Amino acid sequence: MRSLVLALSGALAVVCSAGAQSYAPSSGVRYHRLLIHNALVIDGAGNPTRGPMDIVVEGNRITGVYAARPMAETAASPGTLQGGKFDRVIDATGMYVMPGIIDVHSHIQFDRAGIDMPHDYEFKLLLAHGITTIRDPGSMQGPDTIVAYAKLSDENKIAAPTIIPFVVVQSEYPDSVRAQIRHVKEIGGKGLKVFINRPDVWDAISDEAHKLGLPIATDMKIQETDAIRASQLGVASIEHWYGIPDAATPGPQDFPDYYNYDNEADRFRWGGDIWRQADPARLSAVLDTMLAHHVTWDPTFAIYEANRDLAKAQNEPWFRDYALPAMMKFYQPSPHAHGSYQADWTTADEVTWRNNYRIWMHWVREYAARGGNVTVGSDAGFIWALYGFTTIREMEMQQEAGFHPIEVIQHATSNGAKLLGLPHTGVVRPGFDADLAIVDGNPLHNMKVLYAPGTAIAGATSGAAQHGGVRYTIKQGIVFDDRQLLADVREMVRKARANTKGE
Ligand SMILES: [Zn+2]
Repeated sequence: MRSLVLALSGALAVVCSAGAQSYAPSSGVRYHRLLIHNALVIDGAGNPTRGPMDIVVEGNRITGVYAARPMAETAASPGTLQGGKFDRVIDATGMYVMPGIIDVHSHIQFDRAGIDMPHDYEFKLLLAHGITTIRDPGSMQGPDTIVAYAKLSDENKIAAPTIIPFVVVQSEYPDSVRAQIRHVKEIGGKGLKVFINRPDVWDAISDEAHKLGLPIATDMKIQETDAIRASQLGVASIEHWYGIPDAATPGPQDFPDYYNYDNEADRFRWGGDIWRQADPARLSAVLDTMLAHHVTWDPTFAIYEANRDLAKAQNEPWFRDYALPAMMKFYQPSPHAHGSYQADWTTADEVTWRNNYRIWMHWVREYAARGGNVTVGSDAGFIWALYGFTTIREMEMQQEAGFHPIEVIQHATSNGAKLLGLPHTGVVRPGFDADLAIVDGNPLHNMKVLYAPGTAIAGATSGAAQHGGVRYTIKQGIVFDDRQLLADVREMVRKARANTKGE
């Protein structure tokens, strides 16, 4: 107990020193017994919709999923449905319940463009979109802060999804990278994020990580290590696509002679051509190697969408009420901001990227068809991508890739849990974590109902009443009212804009 108290006060100290703004207290409530009444259920395991069902949640667990009793019976014996008293009943008549979304590529960011943001801004946008778990694949806030916030979230002291902190390790020397990895383990990191490294450093990372049981997520960029080597090194997930087509090009990547990796405009422009350069027969073999080593592919289609349609990305309708000035400033073209490389983005670039997407999507679909694990990750906070909204956009783009909406929801729930080693998360099933999204609409009919403010924000309705949106997000049995979360975010944006005007 004493060590627990010490650990907590340590966590708070870190949080308070992390920025001028203190952490936001949670507005979520966990009930002794909660009933979600009369819901249609998409279970997240790939099965068709069932229902209407009554879902019983006790504490942080789902303890029962039953055929719903008629409303008349509920009225006749209020609070005693399914054999016991409930201290909260949510009437989900006409709504869909699915597992909470797991975004496996979600950086925690407390500032953008050098401007501080309220620490609950990103968390509340994520929760409002039904996201109950995020894997942070390395944060500029530093691993101690992220681990501290993960604890605060677990203890329901802040309104935030469950946070799985992965930590970036990077070194020129095998010995020092081993020391970094041991430190990650000591402070409570749950995995490693690995970018470019020398092959001998990669060997050391793989060896030390496996000794300590830390999974590796890699964003390979362009380096000597490709998807075949990374698979052999035992990485848990390949982020984006880097390294996969690269392993299937007949020679080096065919870039123009002026190409410089450290110029982001070059990098992202020509990154859009690598799928065309890959040999399909070789690619097929690369996928088989990834499959044999149980590598998860987290494609993050949506973060690159600006490359195929810049004007769309710059004018997302949700910016109006939900984008802080700091975000909009960060997105503007600048050689100093990661991902803000579109100062001279041309028609030809967009055409190349559209073509690139067609090939890339085909191979992601193929990987899943062969039994590969495909997940949903947003990488929001860069390239015009806003927290929460981009996770849902990723799901829309996976549908575009040819996946059935039921499969897309599986990617966003149980497949994410599989990657993160959470055997009792991501499915609506007794004995599983009470991580749930209660949705005003059917995401199998229209994925846009998952956008937190509803379908109208994505232009899906004309003149009709606003419809859709996740109504309640339940994280570990803690119920959040998503309308309240959105109202909080709109207020943060309003205040920040009022402050910016005076500058
Ligand atoms: Zn990232």
